[in-house]
Amino acid sequence: MGRVLIVGAGGVGGVVTHKCSQVSEVFSKIMLASRTLAKCEKIKEQVGRPIQVARVDADNSPEVVALINEFKPDLVVNVALPYQDLSIMDACLETGVNYLDTANYEPPGEAKFCYKWQWEYQERFQKKGVMALLGCGFDPGVTNIFCAYAQKHYFDIIERVDIMDCNAGEHGHPFATNFNPEINIREITQRGKYWEDGKWVETDPLSIHKSFDFPEIGVREMYLMYHEELESLVNNIEGLKRIRFWMTFGAEYLTHLRVLQNVGMTRIDPVEFEGQQIVPLKFLKAVLPEPSSLGKNYKGKTNIGCLIEGVKDGKKKSIYIYNVCDHAECYREVGAQAISYTTGVPAMIGAMLVLTGAWQGKGVFNVEEMDPDPFMEKLTIHGLPWTIKEIT
Ligand code: NDP
Repeated sequence: MGRVLIVGAGGVGGVVTHKCSQVSEVFSKIMLASRTLAKCEKIKEQVGRPIQVARVDADNSPEVVALINEFKPDLVVNVALPYQDLSIMDACLETGVNYLDTANYEPPGEAKFCYKWQWEYQERFQKKGVMALLGCGFDPGVTNIFCAYAQKHYFDIIERVDIMDCNAGEHGHPFATNFNPEINIREITQRGKYWEDGKWVETDPLSIHKSFDFPEIGVREMYLMYHEELESLVNNIEGLKRIRFWMTFGAEYLTHLRVLQNVGMTRIDPVEFEGQQIVPLKFLKAVLPEPSSLGKNYKGKTNIGCLIEGVKDGKKKSIYIYNVCDHAECYREVGAQAISYTTGVPAMIGAMLVLTGAWQGKGVFNVEEMDPDPFMEKLTIHGLPWTIKEIT
């Protein structure tokens, strides 16, 4: 029915490719392209049906255009890095092809992610008559859809949202990140930020924390951080008084991070080393385990969800809507850990809804602007069942 070009053969790209190849009635032809062809070949050997692979430098928009012209996809799924978002969107615009990603653009030289750069493509995508669907992973992605679903079926007004991301898994390494180390460390070390009473409130990095009893996991300490879905949800959930994002970290992770920061290894500006310029964080990435390699011995579960408070029929109510995902089960199914899995499955579902026409539009959209119902239905079918706990 549709042709999909997946860009990025990392942890998430592997899951998207596996999951698309499980649904041949929607994804009739699949191409996986990335900077390192060998990584595409490896994934190709693991999936259950023939796919095409190619080498592409997605920073180079004309290379992406040439690949699109050769393969002629109906949709490009960008699961490379946020740095490539704009060059891939440019290629989609030039060729008139739909676009989907899981993380918003971030300039390489500045640890600052926001939707401004991609939202600026609105008019051009509208004029071209194609769709760009932004942030279709888990968080952002499923968490936005959870809010849209709660808004549609559970509340007249949503007043407060706490998005909570708990990974209670053990991968056996003293220190590793669950998705691209460079992007992950840039995100965690920046200042915290949440939205309350119509304005943004900034906090020192990881300075606000509290515990929460996560279903199927137990009590964990979680830390307030800024996360990209806050920016779009503030615009798209009417009546919102406060929205925050929390992530759990173990003591071991935080100690390693503090030491790495203190010795300068998380710096993103180039330093002179033996006659050449290197960026310490890029060097650190090169010596840390790749996210796609963590799956084998990963044990334990993730619980990611939204604690939502609001009003229904004149009464205050609150719900916790969440998914629990088991690292070992993900590895058994697609050879990946749960963070790659919980990102790759929603990207595949978003792609499926675009290709089947269930989600349509011309322009640039965040996922909460789409009908949440078909997405929620597919989550359960394709490996990420969800639960709603009514608290009051
Ligand atoms: P990985 O580092 O495992 O994979 C990234 C892949 O992109 C690598 O294969 C890399 O190639 C490839 N790549 C990098 N630069 C280019 C380029 N210029 N051209 C072509 N390919 C390139 O990261 P993950 O798979 O963990 O993460 C992928 C994306 O998913 C990231 O943007 C991340 O922020 C996002 N994400 C979103 C989440 C969500 O819930 N919304 C959660 C987790 C991740 P090479 O192998 O050669 O380096």
